[in-house]
Amino acid sequence: MAATIHIVGAGLAGLSAALKLSARGRQVVVHEATAFAGGRCRSYHDAAIGMVIDNGNHLLLSGNRAALDYLRDVGAEQRLIGPPHAEFSFIDLGSRERWTLRFNDGRLPLWVFNSRGRVPGTRALDYLPLARLLWPPAGKAVGEVIGCDGPVYRRLVEPLLLAALNIDPPRGSAKLAAAVVRETLAAGGRACRPLIAREGLSPTLIAPALATLSQRGVAVHFEHQVRAIAFAADRVEALDFGGETVALAADDAVILAVPPYAAASLIRGLVVPNEFRAIVNAHFRIAPPAGQPPILGVLNGAVEWLFAFPGRLSVTISAGDRLIDTPREELAKTIWNEVATITGLPAELPPWQIVRERRATFAATPAQDAKRPGAATQWRNLVLAGDWTATGLPATIEGAIRSGNRAAELTAR
Ligand SMILES: Cc1cc2nc3c(=O)[nH]c(=O)nc-3n(C[C@H](O)[C@H](O)[C@H](O)COP(=O)(O)OP(=O)(O)OC[C@H]3O[C@@H](n4cnc5c(N)ncnc54)[C@H](O)[C@@H]3O)c2cc1C
Repeated sequence: MAATIHIVGAGLAGLSAALKLSARGRQVVVHEATAFAGGRCRSYHDAAIGMVIDNGNHLLLSGNRAALDYLRDVGAEQRLIGPPHAEFSFIDLGSRERWTLRFNDGRLPLWVFNSRGRVPGTRALDYLPLARLLWPPAGKAVGEVIGCDGPVYRRLVEPLLLAALNIDPPRGSAKLAAAVVRETLAAGGRACRPLIAREGLSPTLIAPALATLSQRGVAVHFEHQVRAIAFAADRVEALDFGGETVALAADDAVILAVPPYAAASLIRGLVVPNEFRAIVNAHFRIAPPAGQPPILGVLNGAVEWLFAFPGRLSVTISAGDRLIDTPREELAKTIWNEVATITGLPAELPPWQIVRERRATFAATPAQDAKRPGAATQWRNLVLAGDWTATGLPATIEGAIRSGNRAAELTAR
């Protein structure tokens, strides 16, 4: 009988591993604890707002090559939409200035020489210190490598790194920031086009993957939580689902694609990142005004990014731990006041929902980054995957998918 690969967790890491292995004709079974796939990247019908929303707005960039390959594999590439060139609109709520950053397509950063494409109030030379962020010394925080002040920082670096690292940037790992900068800003505008799942995360990233897996004969078992793993000296022997035990044959393997705290509870002694940062999203059921950009960066407000979807405006606030205990109604009103100011919509609060993901990502500090384990383990048939494993990237869709691809490669050997 052909060896079976058990994938535990149907988030993007688990799904990408399942896609890679099933494409090679390997026999795969996916076990997911909850009743849905997608993990931290999913859509659901929300009764309070009366529509389908995403757990959080997710932004991809055109340089996210593994994510785009994944979408091509499941036939959903066209469901991500974005402008033909790299453009980011901003508003400063302090000064009420509005501007659009326009990166040129090629690798040479000609845009810094264009006063209508770069950050207002800056000169080309102001961008030079950013070069230090490309190959920083090991173990340093961003604040130890570049000066965290001035208009280039406040209006470009801070919003970019806050969104990508989900941490106050000066405390963030310079190594992870460097990976983001190398794969985006330094790779030229062609790698920086902002892409969003206009129809929602699940219809774009999750449902097409499940359909493809089903066509390839992969079973996905929902509400099938692994409660314990039975280890022999050098291999996993069985998966315990509580009341049901699945014994592994000699060539069977396991890809554990669960969050770090779940992995640590299943593997004694596993060192994993154990500090997290929250992301707060506010969703408002209202038609965006004509001309509202799909994504708008907001400075000097509580709002950081304003996303416009059909019939809905949504706000993202990264590293949002300070807002976890704010009463929901108060938060909705504060955020809506800013959105009304930005868009010119009436001040009256439309139907809303606040989604606070407390453990949205691991805290991207140098110390937490050092705790990320590689994919291989001491057990020859157990491989780890997830955005928190040592991908070299912050906790992102791209990182999660690359980790799943890597786990599939190791397992398929
Ligand atoms: C609000 C928010 C906004 C974000 N914004 C962005 C963004 O703009 N751009 C971006 O690139 N990334 C963003 N991210 C990060 C991105 O969502 C994650 O990096 C990615 O989804 C992680 O995927 P994963 O498969 O590693 O983990 P998860 O999605 O956590 O998947 C793990 C799965 O394992 C399951 N599981 C857990 N324990 C068990 C068990 N014992 N047995 C079986 N199954 C189990 C879980 O139920 C879950 O389905 C955001 C995240 C959040 C929360």
